[in-house]
Amino acid sequence: MNDPLMELDGMEKYFSRSSGFLDSLFGSDDYVKAVDGVSFTLEENEVVGVIGESGCGKTTLLKTLMGLHDPTGGEIRYNGKPLSSFSRADWKQFRRNVQLIFQDPFNSIDPKMSVRETLKEPLKIHGMEATEERILDVLEQVELNPARNYLDRLPQQLSGGEKQRVSIARALVTEPDVILADEPVSMLDVSTQASVLNLLSDLTTELGVSMVYISHDLSTVGYVCDQIKVMYLGRIVESAPTQALLDDPKHPYTQALVSAIPIPDPHHERDRTSIEGAVADPVGLGGGCRFRDRCPDRMDICEKTPMDTEVEDRREVACHLHYEHEQQAQAGAKIMNGHQQTTKQGGDD
Ligand code: SF4
Repeated sequence: MNDPLMELDGMEKYFSRSSGFLDSLFGSDDYVKAVDGVSFTLEENEVVGVIGESGCGKTTLLKTLMGLHDPTGGEIRYNGKPLSSFSRADWKQFRRNVQLIFQDPFNSIDPKMSVRETLKEPLKIHGMEATEERILDVLEQVELNPARNYLDRLPQQLSGGEKQRVSIARALVTEPDVILADEPVSMLDVSTQASVLNLLSDLTTELGVSMVYISHDLSTVGYVCDQIKVMYLGRIVESAPTQALLDDPKHPYTQALVSAIPIPDPHHERDRTSIEGAVADPVGLGGGCRFRDRCPDRMDICEKTPMDTEVEDRREVACHLHYEHEQQAQAGAKIMNGHQQTTKQGGDD
């Protein structure tokens, strides 16, 4: 069996907040665990979505995947080879094969460069033939037609949606096998979002490009992704095929996110699960479930870190509600809402 295209194995990225000599001497744990033990694979032709509120660590995850941050722990492999063992030549190939689409199409394109120059630049950097034919091809792929009319336009002569299509064309022009997309439609108006999402969905299918797509908006992730990972304060709390997760979310945080997706039917009301409070301070996080301060199903056992549990084929949840528990005494310790659950003790923090 082939290696996955990309593989994260217990990846951690911590940022130190300590500054002084005494902090380093006494080993202060004043750091932000932006990504904390994340594992998943990205297979060929697969689109994996990572969803979470702002500050949950998803952008750090993407930057670390791109090699812009060194992981604090764990490993990232590309075609089976750890990034930590890459030679200069490996990095050069990786930079050509793994491309980014940024959130902000308004600032991610050089305002002084025409569309032709914007698309020529990556080809030149990677020593590829920068022919007009290749540039016209990729403009047609992103449905900027007639393509020739766009060649000499500057960014200020493009709409927001057209700019994001040029960003997508720039990512595709080097014929990558992986695209890392950072909230690619969040700054576009709603009607443009739908057409850019359709385009991304079609392109990944037609070109066989794999993608990691991150967003705070579960409704857009559901549009393009085969698998969804739900991230909360640096950890993946639920992972499932897209439709299964949308139809039957298991983790209380995922349930709240799904219940907040708007339904375009004024006569249909969905039961809403609201989440109280705000995301905890990410500095110096200790053990226990990181969602416990906001969870309506919280129990005493939630002071222990829940382990990832396979609840169905290709579905994992990190929540004590989904453990078989041998210590029935714990089940009666539910703090809120009164109903009893059976749980099993997780990580020993
Ligand atoms: Fe809620 Fe406990 Fe599950 Fe965390 S582990 S989501 S606090 S029930």
